[in-house]
Amino acid sequence: RAKERGTGVEVFSEALRSRLLRRTDVESGLARAVEAGEIVTHYQPVFEAETLRLSSVEALVRWRRGNVLLLPGEWIAIAEASGQIVGIGEQVLRTACCDQRELGVPVAVNVSARQLAVPSFLAGVERALAECRPGALVLEITESAVIDDVDHARGVLSQVRSMGVRVAMDDFGTGYSSLSALSRLPIDILKIDQAFVRRLHEEEGRAVVSTIVGLGGALGHDVVAEGVETPEQLDVLRELGCGYVQGFLTGRPVALEQLTGRSAHEPQG
Ligand code: C2E
Ligand code: CA
Ligand code: CA
Ligand code: CA
Repeated sequence: RAKERGTGVEVFSEALRSRLLRRTDVESGLARAVEAGEIVTHYQPVFEAETLRLSSVEALVRWRRGNVLLLPGEWIAIAEASGQIVGIGEQVLRTACCDQRELGVPVAVNVSARQLAVPSFLAGVERALAECRPGALVLEITESAVIDDVDHARGVLSQVRSMGVRVAMDDFGTGYSSLSALSRLPIDILKIDQAFVRRLHEEEGRAVVSTIVGLGGALGHDVVAEGVETPEQLDVLRELGCGYVQGFLTGRPVALEQLTGRSAHEPQG
């Protein structure tokens, strides 16, 4: 029994060790990546559902490590925990604002809970606007980013809006915030999470999406469906009156050059 227990402890500490190693590895790698300019911004197009006219783009951060493009899922949680997301987020914001003119449509930038919480957040937005003078900017926030302190979030978002920036509620429907709290937030756009879009072939899935579209309409918000992958999903979204679509069906995230038609040799991701 002692041996078994011993083995158990060993396995546990080994797993913990590799987890800690990986974390510090990512943290120090990220610090170097920011310095070396390995943090790059890709853009995914958003289209009007009915006409498939290009409506806006969403900036999505990537870490180009050698020839490999690391998607945020592999490292952004670690950057959140270490606080590195604040500097990285500022960089993405500035890049997106400065690319906006060339993109020709409004650009949306993701903002994490951590970024929203730092006192210098508004100053950073102001600086990006002043330096790059984008024609239109949207900030995307998640329910989880505002739920901890709805009053603080409301204050920050109101100020953001007074700068002429629109606000999108990202991954809508996946958080646990109450509808009453949500309806009192200054929001312009609802983004339906791809988990719901994936269930559009079921009656219940359609009912949920239809309800969100109705809610968005009632509150005067634009509604964007995320993760649209099939023509069938697009058809149903049009029937339900969803205004905008984003997904692999209509366009993957790509480098600026690929979107604007300039010569490009960047991998997709
Ligand atoms: P998100 O904001 O919900 O972004 C949408 C994600 O869905 C992106 O993943 C996008 O590539 C992916 N996607 C788009 N269309 C489809 C589709 O048709 N099918 C599928 N399966 N996926 C699709 P990505 O780029 O890996 O980003 C993941 C998450 O990382 C984002 O989710 C966002 O929460 C976060 N993130 C990305 N860029 C930033 C950033 O600059 N700052 C912060 N704070 N978070 C970011
Ligand atoms: Ca987003
Ligand atoms: Ca989303
Ligand atoms: Ca998401």
